[in-house]
This record gives sequence, C-alpha cells and structure tokens, in this order.
Amino acid sequence: MAYQTINPYTNEVEKTYENHDDAYVESALTKAHALYKKWRNEPLAGRAKVLHQIAEVFTKKSDELATIITHDMGKLYAEAQGEVALCALIAEYYATKGADFLKDEPIETVMGEAHVEYHSVGVLMAVEPWNFPLYQMMRVFAPNYLVGNPLVYKHASNTPGSAVAFEQAVAEGGAEDGACVNLFINYDQVNNVIADMRVQGVALTGSERAGKEIASEAGRNLKKSSLELGGSDPFVILDDADLSDVEKIVGKARLYNAGQVCTSSKRFIVTEKNYDKFLEILKKAFGAVKPGDPMDPETSLAPLSTVSAKKGLVAKAKEAVENGATLAFGEIDDNLDNNFFPPIILTDIKRDNPSYWKEFFGPVGVVYKVKDEQAAIDLANDSNYGLGGIVFGGDPKHAAEVAGKIETGMVFVNNFGGTAPELPFGGIKNSGYGRELGRLGIETFVNAELLMVN
Ligand code: NAP
Repeated sequence: MAYQTINPYTNEVEKTYENHDDAYVESALTKAHALYKKWRNEPLAGRAKVLHQIAEVFTKKSDELATIITHDMGKLYAEAQGEVALCALIAEYYATKGADFLKDEPIETVMGEAHVEYHSVGVLMAVEPWNFPLYQMMRVFAPNYLVGNPLVYKHASNTPGSAVAFEQAVAEGGAEDGACVNLFINYDQVNNVIADMRVQGVALTGSERAGKEIASEAGRNLKKSSLELGGSDPFVILDDADLSDVEKIVGKARLYNAGQVCTSSKRFIVTEKNYDKFLEILKKAFGAVKPGDPMDPETSLAPLSTVSAKKGLVAKAKEAVENGATLAFGEIDDNLDNNFFPPIILTDIKRDNPSYWKEFFGPVGVVYKVKDEQAAIDLANDSNYGLGGIVFGGDPKHAAEVAGKIETGMVFVNNFGGTAPELPFGGIKNSGYGRELGRLGIETFVNAELLMVN
C-alpha cells in the first residue's frame, strides 16, 4: 500500500512516503501507553490548555494546512480553509466545555454514597478517510486528548500530506510525544494494533466495507468500536415548501466537496406538486458550476479525489442507467484523463435497480417523485443507510414532526445543516454506530466508573 500525494487536479505524484515498520508501530504504542499511565495522575486542565494552543496553531497555519488538503485530495481551497477553521473550533470547544462533560455524577441510592467518575481507558486506534482529512482527525483527537486517551492513527493512503500535517500541528500546539501518532501502515498492521492489549478502542470513519472489516477485528478482540460510515441522505420537499429557500442551498447540499460528503443530500424526494419546478431548480444549480483548478477562487467544482474515485462513480452511474434510470440532466463523462465529473441528475430509479440501494459519492443527484408526505417519509426510510437528512416545509413545526419520522442520526429542517463542534454526528443502520462531536462524542471511549463509599 503506497502512501502518496497525487494531486487530483493534475494527476501528478507530488510526494511518496515510506511505510512504517513494526518496530516503529511498537515504539508508538509504547510511548502512547506510557503517556496514558502518566495522564491518569494529572488533572485535565493541563490538556485543556494544550487544546487551546492547538486551536491557535490551526488558525495561524490555515493557509498552509488548506493548501496541503487541496493538493492531497483536490477540494476547493476555500472549502479547505473552512475545514481548517472548523478544526480550530472543535479543539477550542473541548478545551472549554470538556471538563464539564467529565464531572463526577452523584447517584441517589439506598446503598450509601455513590457517584460515577469518568476516566480515560487507554490508547485508541483511529482509521480515517480522505474527504475531510483534518476535520475527521480532529473529531476523534480533541475529545480523547482531553479525556486522556492517546491516539495512534492510520489515515487514507491518498492523504498522507494531511496525515503528517495533523501530527505536526498538534505537536506544535504542545501535545506530548506519543499523544497523537501517525502510522503509515497496511491493513494487517492495523489489525495487529487493534489486537494489542494496550489498545482499548478503535474509531473508523469510512465505507461500509471498511466498517465491517474493522468492526469484526475489534469484536474478535473485544475492543469497543465507533463507526462513522456512508449515507444516502434524503432531502424531502413537502407540498408547502418555499422553493426559493430550497434554491438557495440545494447546490451546496449536493455539490459541496464535489459531492464527496457522507451527509450530502443524495436522494431528493419531492411531492408531485413541486416536482417539475424542483427539477428545474436542481438543473440550474448543477448547470452553474465551473470546473477548474481547485486553488483558483473562480472554480466552483473540484475534481474527484482520485482516478479510481472517478472510475467508481462512472461505473455506478452507468449501472443506474442500464437498470432503467433516466439521465435527466448532464452526460456521464467517462474520460479518465482527468478526475472531473460534471454533475448529472438521475430519475426513475426503481426499487429493483441496484442503484436504489447505493451511495453516489460525487456530483450525482437522484430525484424521486412521490404522491404525498407519507410516501416521502416511506421512501426516505427505505434505505440501508441512516446518516442524515433534510426536510423542507412551509410550516416549520409540521416539517419538524416529519423530520422526527425520518430514521437517521441527524435531520435538519429548512436548512443545509452541516456540522458544528457541539452537534453530535453519527448514524444508524449501515451508516454505523456511536457519535462524534458534542457531549456524546467525548463519552464514547471513557470508563464510567462507579464509586461507592460507605
Ligand atoms: P474507505 O475505503 O473505507 O477508507 C477509509 C479508511 O479506512 C482509509 O484510511 C482506508 O485506508 C481504511 N481502510 C479501509 N479498509 C480497511 C481495512 N480493512 N483495514 C484497515 N483500514 C482500512 O472509505 P472511502 O471510500 O475512501 O471513503 C468514503 C466513505 O466514507 C463513504 O462511504 C463516505 O460516506 C464515508 N464517510 C463517512 C463519514 C461519516 O462521518 N459518517 C464521513 C466521511 C466519509 P486506505 O486508504 O489505505 O485504503
């Protein structure tokens, strides 16, 4: 497995990194475990201070880090800057709020005086994807650093620049040697790390396939895991929706990060009344994008992350059409000389079309026409995935009731949603289990220890 930065805009190899051998992994685990033991005897105020400093480093190095992201995986430079800013906010959030989340909790009991204390559990392994290469790392690192769980991580093989930059940025902020160690390792080595008795949990963000493999390995070794996997999020448009509001966000909801977002709106579910108008709105949004150099501020559509990402998306789009879908907008661009995938819209995807069940990780909008609200809810829930979703309706209270019937981990009413440090992030069904961010995100890998004093 080669860790390489191949610029997705030029397809040129910019840098190749050496893999780490088992001795390096062993030294990382030794350092991390020793740090865990040391931290057990130290107040978390010291680590909160370091997290503040780390937030400052991300803010100070925004341009440098954003450039690394764009060269690694091709997203628009402005989006990369947004990602780095979000990292700073997450570090700051746990620095400020984390201690409150970990306070002792008294329990009323006839047995005597009792309370729960929250303690660290030990070294964690993270396996992370390329689509938000710094943000995904910060979601796991910041809460666990505060708790006192050191982290070793395997990043995606196409974002090694970001993997190294993250390790360096947190070290620059003052994180101790062993607190957060990047490992350029293969899948077998990942399994060895998961099996190591010093490692107490594994966090994965990635595909369903990886989720099954990593969760099996964790289960075999009785290690706790959290899985943030794919999604095929519904965007439900009710009869009374204000389409001018929909128009303001629909392009971003599908095309942000060239559509390579787990929580992108991938299935637009529209009642008959609004269907034709909505289709025109989506075509307009898709037709307006300008592919180009992602470092150029004029560009509004970035290339996909790799040649194989484009190959995969082309194959999925063709499969949809071969099985009965209508190509309602655009052409399937299967030229593999570049990684651009100009947006397409697919309609008429039926339940017996394999594409009905798949995630399109790129600029593909699938639009469904439904009879009424109940049919919209039923279709939204007829999915293997359950990550996020959006509901648009003229009566926000009613739209919120509809949102409550959508079977996902997150639903947003009348807005694009997105992510923020305080909002728990995660899904149900094949989108995984566990939550990152917010209070729930710091509780994933803690020992809630009961203490009774009589
Ligand atoms: P992927 O192939 O699953 O890769 C994700 C990470 O897992 C990479 O570091 C990859 O390493 C590693 N990996 C894969 N199989 C492994 C194994 N058997 N053992 C150890 N490591 C393994 O995911 P992707 O296709 O690049 O990423 C896109 C997917 O992630 C989409 O489905 C997307 O929806 C999902 N995602 C979910 C969230 C969320 O928060 N729910 C966020 C972003 C993305 P290599 O690169 O070396 O193969």
